[in-house]
Amino acid sequence: MGIMRKSSKHVNLAHSRSGDYKKLLYKINTDNVCPFCELNLKKYHTEPILKEGKYWLITTNQNPYNGLKHHILIICKRHIETISEINKNESIELISLSGWVNTQFKINGGVLMIRFGNTDYTGASVTHLHGHIVSGGKRHKDTKSIKIKLGYKIARRK
Ligand SMILES: [Zn+2]
Repeated sequence: MGIMRKSSKHVNLAHSRSGDYKKLLYKINTDNVCPFCELNLKKYHTEPILKEGKYWLITTNQNPYNGLKHHILIICKRHIETISEINKNESIELISLSGWVNTQFKINGGVLMIRFGNTDYTGASVTHLHGHIVSGGKRHKDTKSIKIKLGYKIARRK
């Protein structure tokens, strides 16, 4: 990784993964802006907006996790960072738009994951609140499971 650079409040470089995504995240960090606030999103995110609700945007992840068939992002249009900030109308639309994704992509089984709060606890690379809707293939004898980071283990006493 070379020199450890200090993460801005908007992104967490320790969670940058590799390749082009890492380069992009370092650029966003240098620019010191929130990549998921609407004006900036157009600048850094090249995937189309699949659906725009009143409170959330649906788009595909431009850097999908390995092995996924679907990797959709649901990004809050307002800059919030934690789950307790989601208001009632946003809550309702979050679930209804996730349902739209489910139907639109004919997802037989998937996961809605929302990391929130301090990214040093969650593995998130972007602080602005967003959810992931992910789905891989169907389990059979030789398939491998998909592993997604959702935090760090606490130290246990032996
Ligand atoms: Zn933001």
